[in-house]
Amino acid sequence: MHKNLIDGEWVDGEGVENINPSNTADVVGIYACANEEDTERAIAAAKAAFPGWSRSGLLERHAILRKTADEILARKEELGRLLSREEGKTLAEAIGETVRAAQIFDFFAGEMLRLAGETLPSVRPGITVEVTREPVGVVGIITPWNFPVAIPAWKIAPALCYGNTLVFKPAELVPGSAWAIVDILHRAGLPKGVLNLVMGKGSVVGQAMLDNRDVDALTFTGSVSTGKRVAQACVEHHRKFQLEMGGKNPMVVLDDADLDVAVDCAANSAFFSTGQRCTASSRLIVTDSIHDRFVDALTEKIKSLNVDDALKPGTHIGPVVDPRQLEQDLSYIGIGRDEGARLVIGGELLERETQGHYLQPALFTEASNQMRISREEIFGPVASVIRVKDYEEALAVANDTEFGLSSGICTTSLKHASHYKRNAEAGMVMVNLPTAGVDFHVPFGGRKASSYGPREQGRYAAEFFTIVKTAYTQP
Ligand code: ADP
Repeated sequence: MHKNLIDGEWVDGEGVENINPSNTADVVGIYACANEEDTERAIAAAKAAFPGWSRSGLLERHAILRKTADEILARKEELGRLLSREEGKTLAEAIGETVRAAQIFDFFAGEMLRLAGETLPSVRPGITVEVTREPVGVVGIITPWNFPVAIPAWKIAPALCYGNTLVFKPAELVPGSAWAIVDILHRAGLPKGVLNLVMGKGSVVGQAMLDNRDVDALTFTGSVSTGKRVAQACVEHHRKFQLEMGGKNPMVVLDDADLDVAVDCAANSAFFSTGQRCTASSRLIVTDSIHDRFVDALTEKIKSLNVDDALKPGTHIGPVVDPRQLEQDLSYIGIGRDEGARLVIGGELLERETQGHYLQPALFTEASNQMRISREEIFGPVASVIRVKDYEEALAVANDTEFGLSSGICTTSLKHASHYKRNAEAGMVMVNLPTAGVDFHVPFGGRKASSYGPREQGRYAAEFFTIVKTAYTQP
């Protein structure tokens, strides 16, 4: 059994099976499920470890982050395989995600050595002002199942870099990748209590983290409904918090777009990683003159995508992550039909050699932006084409959503691309690129109902994982 890590010790718990969504007969491993008491102990351990870790030497912290990056990179095939097996994204995507996690640890190992403040003259003569950043304290980390390695990495690495101690709760469906990352960090030399792993249920472990006054900051990625709960609990406890939640990301295709680029961007945005990315695009907003050519070409492209076992060479799209998500995808396909959208391809359950949650990517046309399939996050390989007359209508439809994470446009017009970059109501804008697929060294995050709080990743991560102090000195 893979155990939880609490105060530097591996701790047993009730064992839970981790099931491979490509082959439900394959048990990836047995993972210990933490309870409320374990969570309380983990938080207490993080609190006790904070004074030592927050004042530890830069080189000690640097070495641990560097070693972690090196080991993740050296084991990218094996860790990628584990990720692919427990989550269902293709092996290539999973190895890519693992490499990205290594790059994130490497980036923050570097940031460790660039910690800086400012010294300014006061407006009052003779007085100096120093502006410095301090760690926040005990940071709670709650992560979703869709990026089991990268999301924990982009929260854990900066949290440690800036001197915080952590309690990490991964999603129930993907404890394997989380355990592997924590094991690497533990062996890299983290002092006891600095990083605690509590695998288990959101309603038990996650809730215990929300309810504990000793958690000073909470970073969450997951659904809007849980995010709201997190926000309420954090306000109640005067706790700093950061939320990354859903998306309903638009991809605009204008008449002047390069058709091949547009089709590749749309197929990638909508269907890769089985559509299970918060940056996925499920609204393809297409102007009149290119509409029919685009739909025909995208339909052909979908026919060429192999949906199969995530570990099989040649698979483009793996299974849906679990039966609950599959049911949600199928239910939205039904809703789309009932609302009057036309299902041009896909939406069928597929049989493969092994028993898995295989769904053919689904494409709707004749969709309006008011339909539920255009307004609610589906989180599966389901996209709809919304026909518009011109760029102005495309921009208005793209922004007509409660979300604002990523927003894409395919065009060869500099004028429209520039206008879109300025006017898209989203945290990230992509021109002639898929809405998903971001760099690790620049800010990530959205606006409106997609996100709350400072950006993640790159140097912007300091905003959440540190507190600014302003000190005045009269010599
Ligand atoms: P999804 O529907 O994609 O699984 P969730 O928001 O339910 O998204 O899950 C994201 C993370 O939030 C998971 O780690 C989950 O266990 C956790 N979680 C779920 N419910 C709660 C809760 N009541 N309190 C804290 N964390 C929770």
